Amino acid sequence: YYFLREPKQPLHTPEGFDVATIRKDFPVLHQNIHGKPLVWFDNAATTQKPLSVINAVAQFYATDNSNIHRGAHTLAARATDAYEGAREKIRQFIGAASTSEIIYVRGTTEGINLVAQTWGRKFLQPGDEIVLSILEHHANIVPWQMVAHERGARIKVVPVNDRGEIIMEEYTKLLGPRTKFVSLTQASNGLGTILPVREMIQLAKRFDAKVLIDGAQSVAHIPVNVQDLDADFFVFSGHKIFAPTGIGVVYGKRELLELMPPWQGGGNMIQDVRFEETVYNEPPAKFEAGTPSIGDAVGLGAALDYVRKIGLDNIARYEHELTEYGTERLIGIPGLRLIGTAQNKVGVLSFVLNNLPNEEVGKLLDQEGIAVRTGHHCTQPSLRRFGVEGTIRPSLAFYNTREEIDRLAEVINHIQRR
Ligand code: PLP
Repeated sequence: YYFLREPKQPLHTPEGFDVATIRKDFPVLHQNIHGKPLVWFDNAATTQKPLSVINAVAQFYATDNSNIHRGAHTLAARATDAYEGAREKIRQFIGAASTSEIIYVRGTTEGINLVAQTWGRKFLQPGDEIVLSILEHHANIVPWQMVAHERGARIKVVPVNDRGEIIMEEYTKLLGPRTKFVSLTQASNGLGTILPVREMIQLAKRFDAKVLIDGAQSVAHIPVNVQDLDADFFVFSGHKIFAPTGIGVVYGKRELLELMPPWQGGGNMIQDVRFEETVYNEPPAKFEAGTPSIGDAVGLGAALDYVRKIGLDNIARYEHELTEYGTERLIGIPGLRLIGTAQNKVGVLSFVLNNLPNEEVGKLLDQEGIAVRTGHHCTQPSLRRFGVEGTIRPSLAFYNTREEIDRLAEVINHIQRR
């Protein structure tokens, strides 16, 4: 079989890593758009895939493809090993105690819905309170609104200051004996703010509230250890960490998963089915009804291997420098307003330009090969806090460079002058 050839260079040097070497691993980056080299600044929406991930998925379909668990043949065993092997890689990557705490889902959205529809439906009572921050993605608002409506619970919202940072005194005031659940993003996709979730979890635990952390924007950018955080649930999407779309993870503490009812019914989630009574499987199978995204799970395992090889400390350091550089370059542009200036942030550089609609700026940037997201980024409450309905949002990953930021600044300066 022909697979894409992977360069053999080491991924990083003792000083950190070499971005030029890393870029060779990402075929999509090496193309022209409208005659200009592609600058991929839409990483908060989705990340590009390294050759090792593309090859792992291709290899799976070329040689190992089978349904899992059920077959008694060699390919079923290989597919099952690959699928369960990826689960172990996830466990290690986020520091979970056991693979029984790692549930495969389609992505963050499905993961949060799973928790809201199982834990929420079973444990929320009328008058209970769910605490969210104003920075949440719609995926961490709407599922809670749905279950709150059904169960008669109320949602409380933690505000942010003018930099886009959580106001901790307000958060503390919102917590109380009625707080049953706290659901927080670890990093905001609209403003880039990194939330002090460890401290916020500790505060919630004083009232015995359960806490879910939405790791969609954090897990690819900063080291995460769910046990150290003491998160009850931690959810993320594979496609935002260099893996395929269609695969994501819910981490849940074993004792909570045991108490939660299953979500979807069907094959794999049962131990025994009779018309009189069905016995459910143990977690995680209890929450994985039907044939899962086996090939995508294999791709996720390969993506985590790749990130581990580079090292999240190296990634975080490099991206932090790049974010600071990008911030400096952007705030120097006349008529540009940066939204989200938290001290501690991931590489999200949301801004608006005076007198120019965001969509038009997005199109002008695309003409220059620069891919950014424009619009509300599924986080309307956080943008409205700053008086805007949308922004232009370049978002960074470790394969981006200072030269690309210079290009972005140059093009925006040019647009502004026009
Ligand atoms: N939460 C955050 C913070 C996000 O940024 C996103 C996606 O942008 C999501 C949740 C939803 O992720 P997905 O669309 O992969 O389910």
